[in-house]
Amino acid sequence: MGAAEANIQELISKMTLEEKIALTIGRDFWSTNGVERLGIAPIAVNDGPHGVRKPAASSEIGIGSSFAATCFPTANTLACSWDTALVEEVGEALGEECLALDVQVLLGPGVNIKRTPLGGRCFEYYSEDPVLAGEMGCAYVNGVQSKGIGTSLKHYACNNQEFERMSISVEVDQRTLREIYLSAFERVVRKAQPWTVMCAYNKVNRVYASEHTQLLHDILKQEWGFEGVIVSDWGAVNEKEKALEAGLDLQMPGYPGDHTAKMARLVRDGQLSEAAIDEAATRVLRMMMLGKENRRPGFVFDQEAHHALARKAAAESLVLLKNTDNVLPLQVEQLRSVALIGRFARQPRYQGAGSSQVVPTRLDTSYDELQHWLNGNVQSTYTDGYDEEGLPDEALLREAVEQAKAADVAIIFAGLPDAYESEGFDRKHIFMPDSHNRLIEEVCRVQPNTVIVLHNGGVVAMPWIDGPKAILEAGLGGQAAGGAIVDVLSGRVNPSGKLAETFPVRLQDTPAYLNYPGEANKVYYGERLFVGYRYYDKKEIKPLFPFGYGLSYTTFEYTHLQTNKTEISTGETLDVWVTVRNSGACAGKEVIQLYVRSLTSQFIRPNKELKAFAKVALEPGESRDVRMILEERDFTIYDDKRQTWRLEGGEFEILIGPSSETIVLSANVIVKEDPRSSALVFDRMSSLNQFLQYPKARELVTNTFAGTPRAGLFLGEDEMFTSMPIGKMAVLGILSDEKVNELIAQVNQSSKKIQ
Ligand code: BGC
Repeated sequence: MGAAEANIQELISKMTLEEKIALTIGRDFWSTNGVERLGIAPIAVNDGPHGVRKPAASSEIGIGSSFAATCFPTANTLACSWDTALVEEVGEALGEECLALDVQVLLGPGVNIKRTPLGGRCFEYYSEDPVLAGEMGCAYVNGVQSKGIGTSLKHYACNNQEFERMSISVEVDQRTLREIYLSAFERVVRKAQPWTVMCAYNKVNRVYASEHTQLLHDILKQEWGFEGVIVSDWGAVNEKEKALEAGLDLQMPGYPGDHTAKMARLVRDGQLSEAAIDEAATRVLRMMMLGKENRRPGFVFDQEAHHALARKAAAESLVLLKNTDNVLPLQVEQLRSVALIGRFARQPRYQGAGSSQVVPTRLDTSYDELQHWLNGNVQSTYTDGYDEEGLPDEALLREAVEQAKAADVAIIFAGLPDAYESEGFDRKHIFMPDSHNRLIEEVCRVQPNTVIVLHNGGVVAMPWIDGPKAILEAGLGGQAAGGAIVDVLSGRVNPSGKLAETFPVRLQDTPAYLNYPGEANKVYYGERLFVGYRYYDKKEIKPLFPFGYGLSYTTFEYTHLQTNKTEISTGETLDVWVTVRNSGACAGKEVIQLYVRSLTSQFIRPNKELKAFAKVALEPGESRDVRMILEERDFTIYDDKRQTWRLEGGEFEILIGPSSETIVLSANVIVKEDPRSSALVFDRMSSLNQFLQYPKARELVTNTFAGTPRAGLFLGEDEMFTSMPIGKMAVLGILSDEKVNELIAQVNQSSKKIQ
């Protein structure tokens, strides 16, 4: 034990029960309780994730009235950069702003999986894929925590919709839970150790996440070795004593009233263990000491530099979805006039609504940035195109059409107004407002060179897809998005973002369509593992734009896929190399994606799953050998029956491509299974067939049946009989109960011997 730990233990030992209990609940909205008598000061915990939201008083919720801070792109947008170094840099900047605002823990990142595009908080989450979400989360945590500021990985677990978010029970099987919904959390906890993990509001399989022993104690603390504080989402605690026993450490926010007395009474009455209080108080105290140690009074961050970083982050995250005839980048020397259309050009949507809403240090607009770039050399016109709420306005529409007709190029800024998506409620559909759709349709009718710039926190349907020549997905790009958009339109930046979520053609095509939003306070995750591209792939449904897709102003060639082995076993890693060359005329960046496909699995598996990716910058003609490393986990499934991860032996394909839909190279590897993990476990419900498949089990079952009159029937060819569970032999009086039990024991024993 180090000196710091000894000090913590000593402080805890000096505390009264009431003082320890006080540490397990907040003081108010945004701070923890201290213990004044022992000189322990409270620390500040504030939202997150894409900027710091610190209200002037920690007793105020303060949405919209916090201190100014840099508003970086929201998670849905930043994830499209697929650039972990960039996300880490953003994390560092966020950490510095926390130092300046005297915030010790920043409440982010959110790594929940985007199960349905209707989820109101899709803009706060990274991806539909756990590897991408997990890697983004690791980079964020590493960046922020490198500055001595804590993070809060949220919302653990299965907060995938806002509908009934505080009460709904997510009904999910263990394999899906592990492989899809916990996987990003696991990656971040194991690789980056966030200071805190925030438990979700909802229930998981009928138990509130805040009281979920399996999730909090067994998996998070025991299995993954989480060392920090489990904090409740704000108001997620229902019965505090149950939560503490389940592993929760800190209830937020705090509220007036003598909460401590009730808990102390429960401890004294033996209804709540003091050990649970000690554990929680120790973890909270450890975090507070760390927070205190890292305080930097008087720290000032560089606003200009952070704004420039926000612009770079947005530019790297924009996704070029369509670019017919290379209409982009705009060739300014060949243009006489540009029609700028749409309110979002001057009043952009740049972040989502709810607890994450930042008051920005400044706000750039595409309109101003374009004027600056055009510099009076190209004529431009502007009209709002639609009203503030996105409602149709015939006069504005007519004006837009007239201006577009008269110009060489029209650029329309459209997407989703604030009222369409927010924390606290789900979307009803994936359409943009009629006024935006009509504007695009009408303008495209008169102007062939139309470019659409989309501002949205989630996917949108594009019934007008064939109309415009170019579509630039700008997401919610933060306070500097205006400049970033013009960087890409002008070609100062070559777009390199790729979609972090599939764009479906219709809501009806989406994986959770039949099971969302649930009924009677339960939502069944009936699509299981088949979320996002895993679903579209398997069902062979063509999406509007696939996961991982995005265009560039240059082109890339992939060659020489190699692996360092052709066979791997438990505990080994596999090195994968691929050569990527910029075969076009300008410098650019490519996101190389590696998917793994099992060719021989006995389990239901997606056609392919993302396991690694890399982003490289290449000059024209330059090529690079890119290395990606796969680990054992990248080939495993979660075996529900054995309740453990299993490296299933067999043949696998390593697939490389620029998107989930376009695989350009593949290589095969053989995975050798450790016989220990494949050892079979037989029980009374194992079918005769299952016994008969294995020579040793066949021998034992045949011996057991020897002499029974119907042995031939049950051990023969007729599946109606051989499909019966062995236990039924006792029910039907064919074998005695003892014989059945003895057989199961013998077979299980012998399958262990095979190890
Ligand atoms: C949100 C969290 C947020 C917290 C504090 C909750 O309603 O779900 O994401 O960190 O409020 O604002």
